[in-house]
Amino acid sequence: MRDEARDTRATQAVWAGEGTTFMEGATQVPVVHSVSFGYDDLEHWRAVALGEAEGHIYGRNTNPTVRVFEEKLRVLEGAAAATSFATGMAAISNTLFTLLSPRDRVVSVKDTYGGTNKIFTEFLPRFDIDVELCDTNDEAAILAAIDAGVDVLYLESPTNPTCKVLDIETLARRAKGHGATVVVDNTFATPINQHPLELGADLVVHSATKYLGGHADALGGVLAGDADLVRAVYHFREINGATLHPEAAYLLLRGMKTLALRIERQNATALAIARHLREHPLVERVFYPGLEDHPGHDVATRQMPGGYGGMLSFVLHGDFDTVARFLPRLRLAHRAANLGAVETVVAPPRTGSHVELTAEERAAMGIPETLVRYSCGIEDPSDLIADLDAALDATARDRKPERGGPPTLAPGRG
Ligand SMILES: *Cc1c(COP(=O)(O)O)cnc(C)c1O
Repeated sequence: MRDEARDTRATQAVWAGEGTTFMEGATQVPVVHSVSFGYDDLEHWRAVALGEAEGHIYGRNTNPTVRVFEEKLRVLEGAAAATSFATGMAAISNTLFTLLSPRDRVVSVKDTYGGTNKIFTEFLPRFDIDVELCDTNDEAAILAAIDAGVDVLYLESPTNPTCKVLDIETLARRAKGHGATVVVDNTFATPINQHPLELGADLVVHSATKYLGGHADALGGVLAGDADLVRAVYHFREINGATLHPEAAYLLLRGMKTLALRIERQNATALAIARHLREHPLVERVFYPGLEDHPGHDVATRQMPGGYGGMLSFVLHGDFDTVARFLPRLRLAHRAANLGAVETVVAPPRTGSHVELTAEERAAMGIPETLVRYSCGIEDPSDLIADLDAALDATARDRKPERGGPPTLAPGRG
């Protein structure tokens, strides 16, 4: 077995987990559809079933294709163990329901992924679990909430859709001082850019549906970290049944081989676009941790050694009608709810990530109605910038004067 921990992440993304010998020397991991795995030797069967010997018993528990996917992510996150799930939300909900019991307390922030927020506000309280969701920008409030008692600290950074940054190391250290388990959703950053376990987290969770797979053609989730904790969550999942399908595992594995290439490109593109957009008169504000005046820039520079990520968002002058006129003009973007794909994807929170909230609730979360979330693809950045400019210029030109908004464009622009 290679010493995979010594390789760089770009190499790990290609080679980690690939050491298994498959039928007839296949160099690519086959999709093993078989639900069950048979044993003529009953003693061997018993040993595998009890985890005393390597092998597989039943597809709800483990599968050879899925195992390679878990192993690749385990190595990329520098973790002792990893297990997988049908979706990112299955990873998050199985983890929280494994770790928490009635009268426990979980501390998190208001800006977690929409589905995660629903677990916190709708489901955990039904089991008499105390949930405190803090203002993401108020570190003192998060520390105070931790000091008031914490069993699980759940973090996400950078956040969706306004790219807020949490100081994972500082918050994790404080929570560990109270004996808490620290979980970080690393979906936006990916293991190329950020390594939560090195920052003190016990567990890292991903929606593999996004950057890990990278092609928006397979759902999946994964959890990596401390071996005992991962085993406990795996046990809950194997009974609960939120198993990753081997076909999806194959697509995710195939996507992950190019993870480092894609993320390096997306990091560079997002920074270039963020810098460019804030010069445009129709753009009121740009959120991107790579910009020097972003409030989380220094922390992000420390805790995201690989780069600031491929997600950014920006606020347009005007009202939602401006957004509605701007988005259809983008030629090089899907208008859709996902992110982290090879194609650029755009969405306004009003119809995408935060569709279930009222305008007032979005405003309370610091999400303006004219915000646009932009997930950079791997297209040539100059094409994306030209596409954005063309759409912004055309939108600024047909702006209805009675609605108020940005200063008029200089003649000749676009
Ligand atoms: C998409 C997403 C999830 C949920 O993942 P699914 O695979 O859609 O279930 C969780 N966290 C973040 C940050 C996400 O972007």
